[in-house]
Amino acid sequence: MSNCQYCNRTFASESSLYSHQKRAKYCLKIQEQKKVIEFTPSFMCQGCEKKFVTKREFNNHENRCYDLLKKNVEARDKEILKLKAIINTHNKEINELKLQHVKEIMQIYRSMNERKEACIEEMAYNKLTALANKEEER
Ligand SMILES: [Zn+2]
Ligand SMILES: [Zn+2]
Repeated sequence: MSNCQYCNRTFASESSLYSHQKRAKYCLKIQEQKKVIEFTPSFMCQGCEKKFVTKREFNNHENRCYDLLKKNVEARDKEILKLKAIINTHNKEINELKLQHVKEIMQIYRSMNERKEACIEEMAYNKLTALANKEEER
């Protein structure tokens, strides 16, 4: 089965399609029109890929083309999703930085505490040895 790409009629074989395209008047007419459109500088709708010969026709169509509108909305939705993903990674980074910051502060606090305790121990030790020395002196 072969389909005529111009008039959409179906044929049993390639050869009958070929002779149809060479002879059928209505098909030749369509072929002629298609050629005119194909070889005329034309404007193509980005949405539905329809071609227009004049800019006026094209503008008229573009303003009403549902497919084009849909494509634009889809493109914007994709853009929004991308931005959301970027925001998400940024939030994650910020949270990680916050966590790291907290960890650093905890570490500083801990080492300060350790130093404080070492200091108290040293003072206590010094006092005890001083007392012990006094005891010995008696
Ligand atoms: Zn045909
Ligand atoms: Zn369109």
